[in-house]
Amino acid sequence: MDFLRPASWEEALAAKAAHPTAVPIAGGTDVMVEINFDHRRPEYLLDLNRVGDLYEWEVGEDSVRLGASVPYSRIMEHLRAELPGLALASHTVASPQIRNRGGVGGNLGTASPAGDAHPALLAAGAEVEAESVRGTRRIPIDAFYTGVKRNALAPDELIRAVHVKKADGPQQYSKVGTRNAMVIAVCAFGLALHPGTRTVRTGIGSAAPTPVRATTAEEFLEAALEEDGFWDNGKIITPSVAKRFADLCAAACNPIDDVRGTASYRRHAVGVMARRTLTWTWESYRGARRASKGAA
Ligand SMILES: Cc1cc2nc3c(=O)[nH]c(=O)nc-3n(C[C@H](O)[C@H](O)[C@H](O)COP(=O)(O)OP(=O)(O)OC[C@H]3O[C@@H](n4cnc5c(N)ncnc54)[C@H](O)[C@@H]3O)c2cc1C
Repeated sequence: MDFLRPASWEEALAAKAAHPTAVPIAGGTDVMVEINFDHRRPEYLLDLNRVGDLYEWEVGEDSVRLGASVPYSRIMEHLRAELPGLALASHTVASPQIRNRGGVGGNLGTASPAGDAHPALLAAGAEVEAESVRGTRRIPIDAFYTGVKRNALAPDELIRAVHVKKADGPQQYSKVGTRNAMVIAVCAFGLALHPGTRTVRTGIGSAAPTPVRATTAEEFLEAALEEDGFWDNGKIITPSVAKRFADLCAAACNPIDDVRGTASYRRHAVGVMARRTLTWTWESYRGARRASKGAA
């Protein structure tokens, strides 16, 4: 196995163009497991650890440009206000050691349906900045996941950054696991309220071949909130609306039975998480509304 160690982003792109089968390695928390278990024996490993800009982030007016290798621990520490859903999801990843190494670029590279960043990225709204020597493109997160552990990257492309919309309202992330830490999701759910556009977005993990959004549930909730003037009157969401939203989220799943859980359990749990996260986010929205009225 040859080990390629580019010192800059340009060198990394050139190496990937010259060796499209080279496997990039960032934190290595997925790649090294596969190599250690002999599930993968790549001809070339492309080490991205010397490419400094992959560890940087920029907070813009509407979005955060998050370098592909920024570790989860940094997101939790520095981007909680801008990216609350992703920060909450980062909290649930593995252990402090893994959170210090692993990052969103690696989660996207692996594209496991159980990856914790995906529901948060789907709910917030994100674009993957992919680059090769041929140029740069931004892939909407909804189009990024193409199958079980497959993504939309071309063989010569690398992920440079992820552009995640800054939160304009409450966000939540909920995960079911067989224990409370160091656990891959049995299923997971992300929810973001976007009061600015009066929209809601969801993300479901580990309950379909790819991470997915529950778009019918989103449309239902948007219409219900609009129809009864909830965004303006800040009333408590009626149980029947919350239940219908939960049922539609469960219906968006296409899960399998596996060692971590059955398909029917996953569907049920996604419904429960959808209802709970809706209650939590809506309570935050109401609280923020009351606080801003009190201040006025
Ligand atoms: C003990 C343990 C527990 C874990 N628990 C969780 C968990 O709770 N939740 C969870 O989501 N994950 C978990 N994981 C998986 C892993 O930590 C995450 O997927 C992490 O985000 C991977 O990031 P990384 O930087 O280590 O990726 P790497 O292992 O370096 O790479 C992962 C994949 O992405 C590709 N890649 C990396 N960077 C780029 C780039 N810039 N451009 C293109 N491709 C790239 C690699 O080639 C590889 O295919 C766990 C892993 C371990 C070992």
